[in-house]
Amino acid sequence: MRSLVLLAGLLAAMLAIAAIRHLYALTRLARHSWLKQAWTLLMGVLVCAVVVALYALMAQFNAQTVTEVEALDAAVHLLGAAFIYAMARLSHDMAHDILRSAALETAALTDALTQLPNRRQFDTVLAEQIGISRRRHQPLALMSLDIDHFKRVNDSYGHLRGDEVLERIGEVLLTRKRASDTAFRVGGEEFAVLAPRTTMEEAHALAERLRMAVETSVVESNGHAIAITISVGVTVLRSDDDVPSLLDRADAALYEAKRAGRNRVCIAPCDATTTLTA
Ligand code: GH3
Ligand code: MG
Ligand code: MG
Repeated sequence: MRSLVLLAGLLAAMLAIAAIRHLYALTRLARHSWLKQAWTLLMGVLVCAVVVALYALMAQFNAQTVTEVEALDAAVHLLGAAFIYAMARLSHDMAHDILRSAALETAALTDALTQLPNRRQFDTVLAEQIGISRRRHQPLALMSLDIDHFKRVNDSYGHLRGDEVLERIGEVLLTRKRASDTAFRVGGEEFAVLAPRTTMEEAHALAERLRMAVETSVVESNGHAIAITISVGVTVLRSDDDVPSLLDRADAALYEAKRAGRNRVCIAPCDATTTLTA
């Protein structure tokens, strides 16, 4: 009986130590400081419990006999430690899975080269923003951006430099857009900027700013600056629009900018009676 009680105490202490390991991992995975503090507090409580349990174990080791109550106590401690271990392990596994699936979801919606949201995310956000703008009677602007003569950049400087140009344009869009706007990489060398609560005039000015920022940004190849420009088509949501018609108009304006000589912003013809305004 005495050795059984000692064995149960030892097992309980080992389970509690294993649980502390999982709690420690949870403190490192926690995204919020309050959650980190909560796991740390639980870990501290468990460390104290282990110290007391080891002290009790030593006392039992020195005792000659074990009472029935002490034996039942040891069983309860063992079951309690097993429960705490299972909870800590489950919480750790669950936190790990949640973070992993969140990372996978982010990766599925992000363009790996530019770190901008990708086409899939664009389709979702565009549909959402159209709904929001309609409900709130707010304007919504869409810009289609395309690098000019990008094939030449690849042909002259190589695909890797071409990738660098794409990265740089991603940076320019991210840093120069307004906080309320979202920039996307929607295709090979095609980008889009969605600007909620933005009128045609404001969108035009923003597109012009982005165009100039790209034109003055520098990507070098063997000491030579690579000339990079973009063409931009701008449009705003109309009351009779759906997703394809809005996209088509932005693309038509982009096509117009290309046709007119590239490195410029063109706005889609807009009808004041059907344009959503605040
Ligand atoms: P335009 O001014 O009419 O838009 O001409 P363009 O040369 O930019 O357009 P075109 O459609 O002829 O060529 C697009 C090029 O973009 C061809 C393709 O190889 C390149 N491209 C697409 N995706 C990537 C990429 O991820 N990395 C690199 N380096 N190039 C890419
Ligand atoms: Mg293109
Ligand atoms: Mg192009």
